[in-house]
Formats: sequence, structure tokens, C-alpha cells
Amino acid sequence: MRDELATYECSISLWLKLRYAFAYDEIFVGLATGGRDVLRGFSTMEIIFLGSGTSQGVPMIACECAVCTSTDPRNHRTRASIHVVMDGLHVQVDAAPEFRLQCLREKITQMDFFILTHGHADHVVGMDDLRRFCEMAGGVALTVYSTEEGMGRVKLIYPYAINERPVAKGYAAFKLLPMPPVMDLPQGKIYSTLLPHGSIHTIGLVFVEKSSGKKFVYYNDCKSVPPEAVAFARDAEVVVLDGLRPEAHHSHMNIEEACAAAREIGCPMTYLTHMTHHVDYVTWNEKLPTGVNLAYDGLRLKL
Ligand SMILES: [Zn+2]
Ligand SMILES: [Zn+2]
Ligand SMILES: [Zn+2]
Repeated sequence: MRDELATYECSISLWLKLRYAFAYDEIFVGLATGGRDVLRGFSTMEIIFLGSGTSQGVPMIACECAVCTSTDPRNHRTRASIHVVMDGLHVQVDAAPEFRLQCLREKITQMDFFILTHGHADHVVGMDDLRRFCEMAGGVALTVYSTEEGMGRVKLIYPYAINERPVAKGYAAFKLLPMPPVMDLPQGKIYSTLLPHGSIHTIGLVFVEKSSGKKFVYYNDCKSVPPEAVAFARDAEVVVLDGLRPEAHHSHMNIEEACAAAREIGCPMTYLTHMTHHVDYVTWNEKLPTGVNLAYDGLRLKL
């Protein structure tokens, strides 16, 4: 009787969880990859897409094209960034111009540290709004990991914030550190690898949660995925790749290149991000190969 009850409760809770998942735009990757993870129990790794758009955003200023005037919310793209929760550790990757609005929309209330993938404006200009997280931490500097190029850009834009503590109450303060090849944390490991992006390099990130062993890969803003980065991404539950637009670009992968990289990595679930107004969500999502989808603002993945 007890076993029967337990089974019943389990199926009710699974049903409720799935119902919740679909109602609230959350995608349980375990379900999509065969259900084994849903049935095994819920782990805690979560990825929140704060933004999925290219540097100009979608809609673009003064454009009347079908995507810019679309009423599909998945065609409304703020600039690309993600928030990763790994065994309770909150890691913010990049700060878009809409960072404050993205935090409000997605109810981001916690941040343990910040990773700046590179110093381009669409990833760095929201950083002043990190001030609130410095304040909530008791007026201390937020640790910021980046490349030499990224740290140089932060120093140029935010000279007032390069301090142990905020210069005045409520101001931002950043403790800049070079991104190490691997961070071994109580909640898991974060590996980094460099990806070519025009004249600079972007930090490609691989998160491996300790409790579940789940692996998540974020390769934004890159022209290709070099062999080392392909090797890092093997066996991941989810991979996110730069998939700018259908046409070629000198510093970003286009959709075809991103699909080729996805094939090479061989992950069962890949999402494309950093998209322009040339990419209508429904049209392109239908055209993409099995296992490759477009990301959109507000998409939450639970691994
Ligand atoms: Zn970018
Ligand atoms: Zn447009
Ligand atoms: Zn860039």
C-alpha cells in the first residue's frame, strides 16, 4: 500500500511538474532527451536566457521588416546574456544594455560572480547595473572574470568601479581577475576556452554541476568552434552556439556554420543565440536540423 501510494504521489508530482514546466515556459531537457532525467529526479542546474539578440537588438531601431514588426515575443530579442544556477551558485555571463530590465523580467535576485566573455559593447555596457548586487552583498566588490581584452574595456568604461569597495554607497565595484582555464568550486567546475571572434577572442564556457554531473556549454560570439572547444563540449546535455543570421559574417557563425558545429559536437540539444532580425523564430526553428533550436528571451532550461 505504501509503495502504491509512493508511486501515485510520484506520478502526481511529475505531472504537476511537467504541467508547471509547459505553463511557465520552462523546458526540462531530461524529458526532451528521453525522459530519463525527469524520472531520475530533479537536479538543480538552470540556465536562464536573459537575452538572445545580436548587438543591435530585435526589433532594430527604424526597421519595418516582418521580424521587427512581428507580434511573436520570440522575435523580440534583447542583447545576449545568460544567468546560470549550478547547485545554488549564481553566475551571470555578460551584462547587456538591457541588463536591469532583464533582471527584473526574470527575477534575478542573486549573483555570486560575473563572467564577461569579451569587451564588446553589447556584453559590457550593462555592467554599471551590477551595483545593486554589490550593495546586496554588503557593499563589496563583485568578482569579474574576463580576458585581458575584456578587463581592459571594463577599466576604460568603469574607472570609478575598479575598487575593493564602492566609492560611494550604492555604486558599483569590480574586482577584476583573469578567467582561469578551470574553476573548481564546491558547486562544480567551470572550464573556459578561447573562441575566435574577429580580431579578439571570446571566452567559451563549460559548466559541470557537481551534484548531478550535468554539463552545459555556452559558446556565444564566435566565428568557429576550434577542436579544443569541440572536445570540451562533448557529452554535454545542452550546447548554446552563436547563430547570427543566414548570411555569412566575418566574426560570427551564420546558421549553417552553427549547425555544422552542432553536428561536430554531437550534442542531443543545441540552441542558437545572438540572432539578428533576419531570423524569424517560427520559420527558422522549423528549418533547423533535429536537435537544434533557436533560443529566445526568457527561455529557461532545467538540466
Ligand atoms: Zn555580441
Ligand atoms: Zn528588421
Ligand atoms: Zn562580440
